Amino acid sequence: MEENNHKLWHFHGGLKLNPHKKISTGTPLRRVPPPDTLTLPTHQHIGDPAEVLVKVGDRVNKGQLLARANGYISARVHASSSGTVVEVGQRPVPHPSGMNAECIVIDTDGRDDWGDSRLPAIDDYTALSPASLRSRVRECGIVGLGGAAFPTSVKLNPLPHHTIDTLIINGVECEPYITCDDTLIRERAGDLIESARILRHAMGNPECILAIESDMPAARDALWEALGGEQADGIRVAVVPTIYPSGSEKQLIRVLTGREVPAHGLPHDVGLVCQNVGTAYAVYRAVRHGEPLLERIVTVTGRGVEAPCNLEVLLGTPVAEVIATAGGYTPSAQRLIMGGPMMGIALQDDIVPVVKATNCLLVASASEIDQPQPMMPCIRCGECARVCPAALLPQELYRHAKNREFDRVQEFNLFDCIECGCCAYVCPSRLPLVHYYRFAKSEIGERERERKASDLARRRFEFRQERLEREKLERAERQARKRAKVASKASAPDKKAAIDAAVERSRARREQRSADESARPDVVEQQSGEVENTDQIHAREQ
Ligand code: SF4
Ligand code: SF4
Repeated sequence: MEENNHKLWHFHGGLKLNPHKKISTGTPLRRVPPPDTLTLPTHQHIGDPAEVLVKVGDRVNKGQLLARANGYISARVHASSSGTVVEVGQRPVPHPSGMNAECIVIDTDGRDDWGDSRLPAIDDYTALSPASLRSRVRECGIVGLGGAAFPTSVKLNPLPHHTIDTLIINGVECEPYITCDDTLIRERAGDLIESARILRHAMGNPECILAIESDMPAARDALWEALGGEQADGIRVAVVPTIYPSGSEKQLIRVLTGREVPAHGLPHDVGLVCQNVGTAYAVYRAVRHGEPLLERIVTVTGRGVEAPCNLEVLLGTPVAEVIATAGGYTPSAQRLIMGGPMMGIALQDDIVPVVKATNCLLVASASEIDQPQPMMPCIRCGECARVCPAALLPQELYRHAKNREFDRVQEFNLFDCIECGCCAYVCPSRLPLVHYYRFAKSEIGERERERKASDLARRRFEFRQERLEREKLERAERQARKRAKVASKASAPDKKAAIDAAVERSRARREQRSADESARPDVVEQQSGEVENTDQIHAREQ
């Protein structure tokens, strides 16, 4: 396969899906007004939740740090507008379980005031070291905006044995309804090219491929215009065929370079770094404007919404207000999904906030979603394996996950499953296969957490035992020393007597010597201490 004189590769499986992109691309990008209340979860990324730094009653500026990264794989959370912290506690968040999580709630003051929270703008990023650029990215709380929400500074920091020769900026939106990346590229192509330059510098100037899909002609033209052609200055625009899920990281790497990221491996292992276009744009804002990640573009689409469009939304804005800005719900609205129809998660209600990973709000009508159908047994037709882009055996994963055989399910590389939904889409037995994979992954994750917790408890117990033993030994030694001291004090009179006797003997010897010397006739000891032998001198003179 070739495109623009550059070779492209196929990946295994995949699907051609009906496109629904034009629904939301008819109007220019707009902004959702700052809401009265912002709800910012402390966990909007892969890794550890951020640690809260503010308390109820604190006044905060826009861009102010609210929660710091708690560990290497973690990300900061900032206030997306100015106001007052009115709650730090459990609130509903966008999650399939509808569960609550720790959030910081801000009543906004309508001023959108930065105060002194904006970081200094960096005009000449080439004067900064890659480490300083990574540090700016980390300071700004940037995570992958393609949906994965992995902390970007970690992705920009490969291990010393990894040589990165290619940077991919991923604008391939494979889900059939999502157009936020397409909109960003069309409206901010110049800034994106600048972000590609910044990211190249941060990675030691590898070749950069800015990838888009073949159904994004306006985005391609905008990029070509901003770049001055299909390629320049180490940056190349690549157009890949619209096959779902070619925007998924491992599949896109395969299509663009022919390289296979190994099972359990990372793009770094094959010399690559992949960043979503939204992430790249956030890096540009962080470097050139000193802005933390406070907002993102969200596609609001589906027949269940009056005026589908793309909107710039402050993080923490309630989903209901985003839908309202897009004209509100239509009478045919049936289901609210965060993400696309293939990989998105159904939301229980619209009070939950927009978070860093919210790329799309799909309000689906009855005609746009599969109606529940009775499940049939697996007939082992193999259709699922034929379309699986990760070249897995979905029917085996399903069988072992259903039987809770979690060791077996891992032997079939469960964690290489990207949850694309291709297998469930083609399954004639209507098996909700991805639900089983998610269930198995979460069970394995839970067991792993429990194992780590019990290892930690065991290590703590052993440490305590060691400490108690050590303290016991130290106590015994202290007591032994004390006993010896007491014993030595008790025998002190004997010692004194021995010393007195020795002194007495020495004094007696001195007196004896002195008496002997006085008895000698030829030696006279004068008062001055000089010795004079008068008789001998007198005899010598005669
Ligand atoms: S497509 Fe469905 S029925 Fe066919 S093998 Fe896979 S799981 Fe079984
Ligand atoms: S959901 Fe997983 S198993 Fe199913 S096709 Fe996608 S990658 Fe393969």
